[in-house]
Amino acid sequence: MAELKCGVENCTYNQDKYCCKGDIMVGGKHADNSCGTCCESFAQRQEGAYTSSLDHACKTISIDCEATKCMYNSNYKCHAEHVDIKGCGACDCQGTECATFREA
Ligand code: SF4
Repeated sequence: MAELKCGVENCTYNQDKYCCKGDIMVGGKHADNSCGTCCESFAQRQEGAYTSSLDHACKTISIDCEATKCMYNSNYKCHAEHVDIKGCGACDCQGTECATFREA
């Protein structure tokens, strides 16, 4: 499980830069740099919507990942200790990226 920090604060799962979703999917099967990756779990927060107190932001999270060229990827699972997702203001998952990607 990776410690995840997320800068995509307009995502419905984002709570104080932590993710409430419990697990995420990172896309980018052909990625050879971080720009080619994205958080496929991104869901734009609806106007007026709020993160309910029932959603618990987790410091560590399970990450499934398609970016098999990344040095932290093993069997479509992320093994990085810490992961940064960025893409503040994204309106879809293509506006996000895994900033921790490092080509193996
Ligand atoms: S660090 Fe690598 S393996 Fe982990 S989520 Fe990012 S791209 Fe995938």
